[in-house]
Amino acid sequence: MINLKEFEVWFITGSQHLYGEETLKKVAEHSSTIAASLNDATQIPVRVVFKPTVTTTEEIYSICEQANTTKNCIGIIAWMHTFSPAKMWIGGLKILQKPLCHLHTQFNRDIPWNDIDMDFMNLNQSAHGDREFGFMVSRMRKNRKVVVGHWQDPEVLEELNTWTRAAAGWNDWQGAKFVRFGDNMRYVAVTDGDKVEAEYKFGYAVNTHGVGDLVEVINQSSEGAIDSMIAEYEAAYTLVPALQKNGAQYSSLRDAAKIEVGMRAFLEAGNYKGFTDTFEDLHGMTQLPGIAAQRLMASGYGFAGEGDWKTAALVRAMKVMGSGLPGGNSFMEDYTYHFDPENPLVLGAHMLEICPSIADGKPSCQIHPLGIGGKADPVRLVFSATGGPALNASLIDMGNRFRLLVNEVVAVAPFHDLPKLPVARVLWKPYPDMKIGCAAWILAGGAHHTGFSQNLTAAHLQDFADMAGIEFTLIGKDTNLYQFKNELRWNEVFYQINK
Ligand code: MN
Repeated sequence: MINLKEFEVWFITGSQHLYGEETLKKVAEHSSTIAASLNDATQIPVRVVFKPTVTTTEEIYSICEQANTTKNCIGIIAWMHTFSPAKMWIGGLKILQKPLCHLHTQFNRDIPWNDIDMDFMNLNQSAHGDREFGFMVSRMRKNRKVVVGHWQDPEVLEELNTWTRAAAGWNDWQGAKFVRFGDNMRYVAVTDGDKVEAEYKFGYAVNTHGVGDLVEVINQSSEGAIDSMIAEYEAAYTLVPALQKNGAQYSSLRDAAKIEVGMRAFLEAGNYKGFTDTFEDLHGMTQLPGIAAQRLMASGYGFAGEGDWKTAALVRAMKVMGSGLPGGNSFMEDYTYHFDPENPLVLGAHMLEICPSIADGKPSCQIHPLGIGGKADPVRLVFSATGGPALNASLIDMGNRFRLLVNEVVAVAPFHDLPKLPVARVLWKPYPDMKIGCAAWILAGGAHHTGFSQNLTAAHLQDFADMAGIEFTLIGKDTNLYQFKNELRWNEVFYQINK
């Protein structure tokens, strides 16, 4: 469902005619070498396409125009090998709609101490050529990523990896469709928001279908399709005896499989990239979609419960950004706390719907009653998540702007059995610690719903927020509440002025 190799970023080198043909030939030679090397780098998940050097206002405008209208171009990497007077860039940058990365590099890593002469200096002058370009991008108040270092430096490649992944997530949102089955959970605030502003700002549309429309498709699921779905369950998970063939609740497994077959058909037919449902509106459904929502997430769909379309869209973008990396991304909810002063922890879970892409080992397929919703017992996958560095991200509507809030955490492997807990779960420690991490989250208005990631870093989400032009706030190792509160206050002023 997600293949980042379909996408490309364009490598564009700026120069001018001042230096003569010989120099421009060298510039072209060097920039094509760099572009080819970036394209071959295993760290960069998309294709890097070399574009001829731009040397005039018209050429710059034209390449930006082409980038805008080329569907699989998800961003441009710009580099000024020589000096490219930046007034030439105004027109192009003004219309550029794709994300911009400024690679501040140099063809030669080292100064050739014994041979360096003025010809070398004139060719290798990005140290000041890139500053001229940087001024104009800042002068135009355009968000962009700046990556500094030699183009073969593994750290530089890693930063480009991060940025191209963010650009892929951003590209995925443009024109995307998410479907809501039912409205937001009644009276809940943080999961609600302005869908018109979201479509304007983020490029994706959220529209509602009555759950009856979905039930109609579910009811068309063929017995053969349900049989194949159950075969997939049997191959991938350990089924409890009650759910096995001839087990006491085998018919519930068939109901769950039928729901998944129907939901997949509905999402494919509507070309949706994600969805949200709510336990308050399940008319005509036998059970709340548990295993279906879990497995659809594992297939790359965005999902969040209780009508939370913002988190569903965020989970989808995170899945695109993390595509191909070890570890997974899931819908998550801060559920309950362990306030042991020696080892404080958050237990994250949901009623049912946690993505098995974050599971440690083979999930167990189980059935248990669900106290809310008033439906039959739902089938779900139960597992613990892998330990290690992770993060929670929350997209909230502050009324005058969207805020993307990230808390870096470290997930810990379960050190205690949870024999009576019938849901998938994760234990984590928030950074910088439990007290500051939770206080900062609450002060920032972060939701109880999040996108939980094992393979993305705060840098991916910061790049992503910059592309969207929204506020980004980070709760990490260095957060202190004094500075964090001021940051929120100052951002308040910034976003009032910067409209
Ligand atoms: Mn919830």
